[in-house]
Amino acid sequence: MTETTEHRFSGETLTPESAGYDAARSVFNGLVDRRPQRIMRCSSAEQVAAAIASARADGLPLSVYGGGHGVTGSAVVDGGVCVDLRGIDHVVVDADARTARVGGGATWGAFDAATQEHGLAVTGGRVSTTGVGGLTLGSGSGWLERAFGFVCDNLVSARVVTTDSRIVTASESENPDLFWALRGGGGNFGVVTEFTLRLHPLGPIVFGGMLLYPGFMAVDVLRNWRDYMLTAPDAVGSGVALITAPPAEFVPEPARGQPCVGVVIAYAGDPDEAPAVLAPLLEFGPPAANLCQPMPYVAVQQLLDPPNPKGMHNYWTGDFLTEFPDEAVEAWVEHGFPPVSPLTQLIVVAGGGAIARVDDDATAFGNRQSPFNLHMLGMWPPDPAQDEQNISHIRALSAAMKPWSTGSVYLNFIGDEGLTRVESAYGPEKYARLRGIKRTWDPDNVFRHNQNIPPA
Ligand SMILES: Cc1cc2nc3c(=O)[nH]c(=O)nc-3n(C[C@H](O)[C@H](O)[C@H](O)COP(=O)(O)OP(=O)(O)OC[C@H]3O[C@@H](n4cnc5c(N)ncnc54)[C@H](O)[C@@H]3O)c2cc1C
Repeated sequence: MTETTEHRFSGETLTPESAGYDAARSVFNGLVDRRPQRIMRCSSAEQVAAAIASARADGLPLSVYGGGHGVTGSAVVDGGVCVDLRGIDHVVVDADARTARVGGGATWGAFDAATQEHGLAVTGGRVSTTGVGGLTLGSGSGWLERAFGFVCDNLVSARVVTTDSRIVTASESENPDLFWALRGGGGNFGVVTEFTLRLHPLGPIVFGGMLLYPGFMAVDVLRNWRDYMLTAPDAVGSGVALITAPPAEFVPEPARGQPCVGVVIAYAGDPDEAPAVLAPLLEFGPPAANLCQPMPYVAVQQLLDPPNPKGMHNYWTGDFLTEFPDEAVEAWVEHGFPPVSPLTQLIVVAGGGAIARVDDDATAFGNRQSPFNLHMLGMWPPDPAQDEQNISHIRALSAAMKPWSTGSVYLNFIGDEGLTRVESAYGPEKYARLRGIKRTWDPDNVFRHNQNIPPA
């Protein structure tokens, strides 16, 4: 490893011979098996600066490991340097200012736990092991987004290590072009070692949970949910997934292992008001199981942890919809069911509310007017013999839904689908602006192991 005189790396470096190397290079998606030349474990911005400088001095490709949940596995790179941020995981809450400073390698589980101690929250990842870093830089979609906006809408400032190892601040007043690009442009512009996020009063108890319906009710459940969500109050966060009922106690015996529909609810208003506000959802049915009740917000945030274990094989894609008419609902159910794998989750998330009121030009991320966002999350046990059939299922479903797609996509929900798809996420004008900002901040495209935006 070459060290520059200006930047000396004082952290731990793992090589293929080191104990812990295999665990450290593993990511959420078990299909990804990459072997970095070294993993540089950072615990400060200065160490990140030194790690970037050493990778550049050695002419090696570089990847950034936040929480390792990116389905492309871009956190690790074959034969290169993995800048590992997992040691930068502080969460410091300023309850009076209603802000939190969070390390670039922290998880949403840690963030939610620390902020909820003060009855504060921002929307966050729907699975608690997801990294704050990648999720926020992709814009950050979560259950509270219709109430409080995307995570990026609540970004106050970021501490960024640049491609030439400078440590800078990005905010509305400092480096505003960089600040704009960080809010949806992904990991293209630098390594964020600290995010400062705006918080909102919420919890610790909220009304939330899940309604579970048998698969044969899928079309009716989706139509009812769609109609309700199109005019729902901002406080209602919700998504519907075609899934397979787990062999859990709360599922009636005959439904276990069968195709079913899960409606997840997170209500950001007064929990006592929730049953009346949510009546059109709660009274539809009857469901096979109703787990909706007042519960800790952190429990809502962990509802989906059990069905999302690390190490499974994953193939994902997504699409924003212009509308979700009955024909689209029918196509979704016809091509979605029966899932090839019981782990697969075919999710529709409702837009609207606070996210739709932010000016489209305010952040790099756009797509604020789409009423529904599809996340086709194919997941199956780590058995290569099952890969092809599962990938084909997701691709066929995605193709069937194209007639209702806006042509744009939420990049955090897809795998590696090429540059054209990245461009389509932003549209030509924003993409051109992002490429210009990239030329300023990373002209050599050092940060390219991501949903890449090449410099202009
Ligand atoms: C089970 C599961 C649930 C999910 N749920 C949601 C959800 O509810 N909402 C949502 O929006 N997305 C969700 N995602 C997608 C998630 O937002 C993306 O996968 C995101 O990239 C994960 O961030 P990470 O830091 O964990 O990933 P990593 O794989 O570590 O990072 C992905 C890329 O992000 C960049 N990056 C990460 N951290 C930094 C940093 N600090 N500075 C600079 N670049 C960085 C790097 O380019 C890196 O290659 C989910 C993913 C999984 C696996």
